[in-house]
Amino acid sequence: MDYKQELKTFFAEHCLFNEPMARHTTYRTGGKAEVYVYPQTREEWSFVLKLAEAEKIPLRIIGFGSNILVGGKGIDGITCSTKRMNHVSQDGEYIKAEAGAALDKVCEIACEAGLAGMEKLSGIPGSVGGAVYMNAGAFGQETFDCLEYFDVIDWEGRPATLLKEEMKYAYRKVEGIQNYIILSAGFHLSKGDFPQLIESRNTVLHKRMEKQPLELPSAGSVFKRPANDYASRLIDDTGLRGLSVGGAKVSEKHAGFIVNFNHATPSDIKTLMDLVREKVKEKHGVELELEQILWGNFE
Ligand SMILES: Cc1cc2nc3c(=O)[nH]c(=O)nc-3n(C[C@H](O)[C@H](O)[C@H](O)COP(=O)(O)OP(=O)(O)OC[C@H]3O[C@@H](n4cnc5c(N)ncnc54)[C@H](O)[C@@H]3O)c2cc1C
Repeated sequence: MDYKQELKTFFAEHCLFNEPMARHTTYRTGGKAEVYVYPQTREEWSFVLKLAEAEKIPLRIIGFGSNILVGGKGIDGITCSTKRMNHVSQDGEYIKAEAGAALDKVCEIACEAGLAGMEKLSGIPGSVGGAVYMNAGAFGQETFDCLEYFDVIDWEGRPATLLKEEMKYAYRKVEGIQNYIILSAGFHLSKGDFPQLIESRNTVLHKRMEKQPLELPSAGSVFKRPANDYASRLIDDTGLRGLSVGGAKVSEKHAGFIVNFNHATPSDIKTLMDLVREKVKEKHGVELELEQILWGNFE
């Protein structure tokens, strides 16, 4: 049997063919995924990993697609979504969340329980797996600050629990993380003041609404923060606020974001990213590093 049929037989309605990635990424644009599956259990992951290995099929993992731009020609092979793995539990100062749970949900649970350490991550629109992978952060807090461990399988399906102390991590970077599929994460928080935590969460959510173009599709900050500066400041200072290519535009509200304001193609966004990087380099001599992840072919 062809590998796609094997996946369809095994995953039934949780296996889709030629799935438009505009449906699964916050940029709301992107080519098609050849096969899109939703593994949930270890057995399901084992099945898909074994098949991909045996048939030499490329395999990708997606959380909420809030940091990914997929090229117009799409992505071949198998794309695995973690969306069916979304259980969260709290026990005292500990929270355990599956990879496909919303990070913001975990922040909300922590604040509601009077637990401090994640309140500033409120409103980041990614999954727990994506947050661990990217060491997502905001307003001076990072995912790894309160992460204690995370459960993974490697690409051969071998399970392991990795402790934070074993990992080398920095701003938006976790060394060696691409060797693993993150299944769940355990956070150790500290007792905080309930009203203060709720206020802090609400302030952060309000600031996001005020400062970020949340009314339009985007994938957040396009570039990482350069040393001792802000990408948005450099972009703004280069006069690029509002610059557009096709349906993509450097946000007028936050120059660090590119927004899909009018049916942007992935190439519109990619061309604009390259243009911004080139112009900032010309004016400031700073090489901006992409924070967002590009998948597939953009030609
Ligand atoms: C409006 C807006 C605001 C944002 N604000 C912030 C912010 O303040 N701070 C910040 O850090 N980011 C921000 N982001 C970016 C984004 O939300 C984060 O990077 C987030 O952590 C990505 O999570 P995700 O689930 O969407 O990951 P995806 O975009 O789906 O994937 C990102 C990467 O993680 C990998 N991955 C995802 N899940 C797993 C898994 N279970 N196992 C292995 N690999 C996995 C993917 O393969 C991919 O390489 C923002 C985005 C938007 C749209």
